[in-house]
Amino acid sequence: MYDLIIVGAGIAGMSAAIYGLRAGRSVLLLEEKGYGGQMVSALEVENYPGIPRISGYELSENLYQQVSALKGEIKYEKVLKIQEDGKKKKVVTNRAEYLCNCVILATGAKNRPLGIDREKELTGAGVSYCATCDGAFFRGKDVAVVGGGNTALEDVNFLSNYCHMVYLIHRRDTFRGEERLVHNLQAKKNVAFILESEVVALIGKEHVEAVKVVHRQTGEERILSVAALFVAIGQMPDNTAFENVVEVDKTGYIIAGEDCKTRTRGIYTAGDCRTKTVRQLATAAADGAVAALAAAAELSERSLKS
Ligand code: NAP
Repeated sequence: MYDLIIVGAGIAGMSAAIYGLRAGRSVLLLEEKGYGGQMVSALEVENYPGIPRISGYELSENLYQQVSALKGEIKYEKVLKIQEDGKKKKVVTNRAEYLCNCVILATGAKNRPLGIDREKELTGAGVSYCATCDGAFFRGKDVAVVGGGNTALEDVNFLSNYCHMVYLIHRRDTFRGEERLVHNLQAKKNVAFILESEVVALIGKEHVEAVKVVHRQTGEERILSVAALFVAIGQMPDNTAFENVVEVDKTGYIIAGEDCKTRTRGIYTAGDCRTKTVRQLATAAADGAVAALAAAAELSERSLKS
């Protein structure tokens, strides 16, 4: 029996754990994979307030150390469902069942696939969703990145340091990502922008050898010989397991405002998995704090009443 169970050990979940533990609550963090979430694949983080520059991995380690120092418990289990059990919640995982008073869903988001033929088949054979994890395999080669947000721009920057040529394929002619990053890339000789274009096919028998790109206005087709395609077209949530206790919008994000409250009393949500306009490390950490303190306040209120 825990005061608080947090689902997901990314920055939102670990921040929630820190605030929950510091509020004197018993906390269990449940994480399906490794702690850190999306942050781990960020090579450099330069916009986390108070830390001019840090790798995503190091930031994640620091958070983990903070949780551990407060005696926070992390179990690596996949949460399958949450059931209401009177005033308590039952959290069912692939290994066990846990009872708690409050839950914070901090499930983050996973990489969005392009949705083209053979994408799944060639994942790991030239198709990648993580430039910092897989980029080194393509040293000296030509590669392409698809997307127009900060992730795509940062991936291109990273890859351009050791790939021969990096093509940035984006479906529009303006970018969602930061101007400053775009300017940096424009100055690089081994970066080429292929704008208003879409990747329509992956070419190669056992691994990626080229991609077919179509210009959206003219319909002109182009084959780019590349050894890898890095897909960086944003994230999508995966909250289907919790739809019995929370409301999700049409894209699957848990509906909650800045107070991080869901439609079910005692269930909160934090970070990229909830409806919000700004998805940054700083806003995810802030959500973790808000959700944990709201849960702690709810528990104090409940104990005053009983
Ligand atoms: P994002 O900002 O949502 O950008 C996704 C990009 O992919 C957009 O340019 C979008 O094009 C394009 N796209 C979406 N679906 C597509 C499709 N089916 N085919 C082709 N292109 C498609 O995603 P993100 O770059 O992963 O960033 C997510 C969040 O994390 C953002 O808030 C971002 O600022 C933040 N982030 C911050 C940092 C940092 O501050 N260091 C680093 C990485 C990410 P359109 O523009 O045409 O919609």
